[in-house]
Amino acid sequence: MIVMKFGGTSVKDVPAVRRLVEIVRAQARPPVLVVSALAKVTDGLLEVARLAERGDGGGAAQAVRALHRRHQEMAALASQPRRRAELLAALEALFAELLAIVHALAVIEEVSPRSADTIAAFGELASSRIVAAALEDAGTPSRFVDARQVLITDAQHGQAQPDRAKTDERLRALVLPLAASGVVPVLGGFIGSTGTGITTTLGRGGSDYSAALFGAGLAAEEIQIWTDVDGMLTADPRVVEAPRVVPRLSFDEASELAYFGAKVLHPSTILPAVGMDIPVRILNSQRPAAEGTRITRSVEPDGEAPAAIACKRAVTRIDIASSRMLMAYGFLRRVFEVFERFRTPVDVVTTSEVSVSVTIDDRRALDDIVAELSAFADVACEDGMAIVCAVGESLRGDARLATRVLGALEGLPLAMVSQGGSRKNITVVLRDEDVKAAMERLHRRFFEGETTSARATLARA
Ligand code: ASP
Ligand code: MG
Repeated sequence: MIVMKFGGTSVKDVPAVRRLVEIVRAQARPPVLVVSALAKVTDGLLEVARLAERGDGGGAAQAVRALHRRHQEMAALASQPRRRAELLAALEALFAELLAIVHALAVIEEVSPRSADTIAAFGELASSRIVAAALEDAGTPSRFVDARQVLITDAQHGQAQPDRAKTDERLRALVLPLAASGVVPVLGGFIGSTGTGITTTLGRGGSDYSAALFGAGLAAEEIQIWTDVDGMLTADPRVVEAPRVVPRLSFDEASELAYFGAKVLHPSTILPAVGMDIPVRILNSQRPAAEGTRITRSVEPDGEAPAAIACKRAVTRIDIASSRMLMAYGFLRRVFEVFERFRTPVDVVTTSEVSVSVTIDDRRALDDIVAELSAFADVACEDGMAIVCAVGESLRGDARLATRVLGALEGLPLAMVSQGGSRKNITVVLRDEDVKAAMERLHRRFFEGETTSARATLARA
C-alpha cells in the first residue's frame, strides 16, 4: 500500500485536483490519500480567528463567506448533479458551523488555542471532502474519512502530539478495510482529536507528519509527498543557476539540508516513516513523470560526490582567544555558557588550543555577548560572512572527497574549515561576496559535466 499526500498547492483549484485525480488513477493499486487544505486556506482561517478575537464579527463572517465561495467553486469537480448537490450540501454544513463558531467567539472576543484548532481544521475537512467527491466522479471508488476520528493526539492545542498506539488502532479499524476493498480513503492532514473528541492540530505544515504517521501505522511500502517542486535540489536555485534534483537522500542528509533552508519538507515530520524504514518520496504534481527525491533511512554512498551543497548567508564570525595562556580547561565551557545565556545558537565551531571561532546568524545579543566574552578572552567579530557546506554520506567513506571539496575552493580565502564527527558534511566559512563563486565551483565540480555523480546524473535523465 502507498500513502500519497497532496499539499495545498496540489489541491489549490479545479485543475490542480484534476491532476491529482489523474495521478491517483494511474496507480496500480488504490492508495490512501492525505490532503492539505487548499493553498492559503489555513492562513485565511487563522485570520478569521484573529478577527473574531478582536471582536470584529462582521469582518470574520465576511472572510468565512469568501472561503465558502472559494470552496463552492471546487464543486465543478463533481459533474454528476447528485454528487455535486451532495458536495455543496456538505460544504454548506461545514461553513455554517464555522460561521456559528466564529460568531460566538467574536461576541466573547476570545479565541483559545483549542478554539483556534477547531477553526483551522475546517480547511482540511473541506478539502478532503472535495477530493473524495472528485475521485468518485471520475469513477474511482473513494471515501471521505474524518481524520479526527483516526489521528488521536494529546491536548496540546496548536502542536498536538500523536498517540501512536491509538492512531494505529483507528487506522486498522477505519482506513485499512476501505483500502482493502479497493476504495481510496481520503483524509485531511494536520488535524486530529483528543481521546475525548476535541479537535486538535499538529502545527503548521503538519500534513506531512500526518502522512508519515498514517504510512507508519499502515506499514505502507512508500509515502509520497506531492508538492509543486521536483524534489530536493543539489543547491539553492537563488545561488546556483541550474541545480539538479537529488534522486536519493538519506534521512541524515535531508536533515542537514533542511537546516540550510531546503524547505521542501521538514525531515523531523517524516521520522515515524524513517523509523520503520519506509521510503518517503517527494514528487511534483505538475510534472508527475519526474522521478522526484527518495528519502530513506540510509543510502549507499556513491563515493564520487556529495549529495548536495548548501549555503547560509549573512552570518557573523566571532573569534575568541583565551587571554590567559594556561586556562587549558573550562575555557570552552565559559565561552558556550555566554551563548547559552543569551539564547544565541551557534552554527559552525572550530577550535585550537587557545582559541575558538564560531558563527552566529542571530545578532540581536551580539554586543552583550562580546562584552561578556571580553572578560576572559580577546574577541574579534566579522560580519558579512557565509557558510558553505557539502553534505553527503559519501564524505564519510571516501577520504579524497573532502580534499576535492576544498580543492574546488582553491584561491578563495577560507575563514573556517570544519568536518563534523559524523563526517557527513564538510563546512567552510568564507566572505559572503565569495559565496556565489564557491557554490558555482562546487556545483560544477560535482554535479555538472563529466565528473557528475551517478546520483545527480539520474536526476537529469
Ligand atoms: N494546511 C496546514 C498548513 O497550511 C497543514 C499543511 O498544509 O501541512 O499549515
Ligand atoms: Mg506543507
